[in-house]
Amino acid sequence: MVRLHSPILDRLTTLTRQIVEDTVLPHAEQVDRDGSWPEHSMRAFAQAGLLGLQVPGILGGHGQGLHALCHLTALIGQACPSSALCFGMHCVGTAVIAAKATDYQRDHYLREIAAGRHITTLALSESGTGAHFYLPETTMAAQGDCYLLNGTKQFVTNGGRADSYVVSTVASGGAAEGDFSCMIVDAGTPGLTWLAPWHGFGMRGNSSRGLRLADAPVPVQNLLGTEGDQVWYVFEVVAPYFLMAMAGTYLGIAQAAVDLAGEHLRNRRHSHTGGTLGELETMQTRYAAMWVALQKTRALVLEAAQRGDAGDPEALPYILACKADAGETAVALANDAMTICGGAAYRDNSRVAQLLRDARASHVMSPTTDMLRIWTGRALLGMPLL
Ligand SMILES: Cc1cc2nc3c(=O)[nH]c(=O)nc-3n(C[C@H](O)[C@H](O)[C@H](O)COP(=O)(O)OP(=O)(O)OC[C@H]3O[C@@H](n4cnc5c(N)ncnc54)[C@H](O)[C@@H]3O)c2cc1C
Repeated sequence: MVRLHSPILDRLTTLTRQIVEDTVLPHAEQVDRDGSWPEHSMRAFAQAGLLGLQVPGILGGHGQGLHALCHLTALIGQACPSSALCFGMHCVGTAVIAAKATDYQRDHYLREIAAGRHITTLALSESGTGAHFYLPETTMAAQGDCYLLNGTKQFVTNGGRADSYVVSTVASGGAAEGDFSCMIVDAGTPGLTWLAPWHGFGMRGNSSRGLRLADAPVPVQNLLGTEGDQVWYVFEVVAPYFLMAMAGTYLGIAQAAVDLAGEHLRNRRHSHTGGTLGELETMQTRYAAMWVALQKTRALVLEAAQRGDAGDPEALPYILACKADAGETAVALANDAMTICGGAAYRDNSRVAQLLRDARASHVMSPTTDMLRIWTGRALLGMPLL
């Protein structure tokens, strides 16, 4: 990213770089190989106070917005995309809780998150409605001072590892399309069952799992906002924070691909010429094109984040476009790095192979690349997104 002028963000950057170097990077290969949740990374972020990135300063957090989120997820994603995804989903969940938190939610969740004692995450998607994450079928029905939740969520990142889950629901008995509510569901709530772990093609350490809720009682004070004001949450909070967290993660993958390609071009020598691969013109132009693609995507992501943080009314198409663009760049550059790094990369679980597999998650994580292209076009044409 370009030079950041906020002293807080400079400090958070230094802290994150140190954790990435000491803790995240040394375990990245093992996270991918074993498909293990990056507990070491999350613990280090917690100890450094980074879990409170999106918690207001008055509650002990850093009070940061979209720019900080994409900047830090890029630093982490460059080393271990699964760690960036787990951290990013925690931050998005935190931002959703913080958006309209009551005093109770501030004390029980946000202060705990800032103190590094609580991990949260988003559980929106369901197999019935798939990529249409804003159409939950899980129901909530009021019963005394609780809501009873029934349904099944799919692909919950940090599944079984987080302390709470931000779950979307509709009122039982039917609600208008898009008219649903979000609840904070504590990990120990009765009626929760974790389904079999999901073994991904990439992002293998994100502990993505299905979650069944059977008459799960959730206290009324865990309702976020008021019943049915979730379209506001989806487009004002979930979408911008999720898109920027993911854009940062994929930007990190793209940067790592360029770095690996450059390293190989400088170091790989042929015995018959004595020269490096980097001396070949074909390789020089291929590498230059990679670098240009990276810089263009970085500029779009930064523009989107800064406009979003400033509350610019023109920010929407930038925010919608940047995750799709970062995903496409990450896939393309990991693919190019695979070509440049030759047989050394084209082996089981090479670093480049891992980056390519991780990058591919971008196109299917909702809002997916195809959906974002449609929404960007609609936003530019002044049409409603849905
Ligand atoms: C690694 C990973 C982590 C995830 N983490 C979370 C999480 O933490 N929380 C969470 O709630 N969910 C999470 N998800 C779920 C994710 O956001 C999507 O909901 C899920 O991947 C959709 O899968 P599906 O097979 O049901 O998609 P489908 O709905 O079957 O879609 C398949 C394809 O069709 C396209 N498509 C479908 N409908 C349309 C349309 N109307 N217009 C254009 N194209 C369309 C999609 O773009 C996609 O490419 C995660 C998924 C992955 C892979």
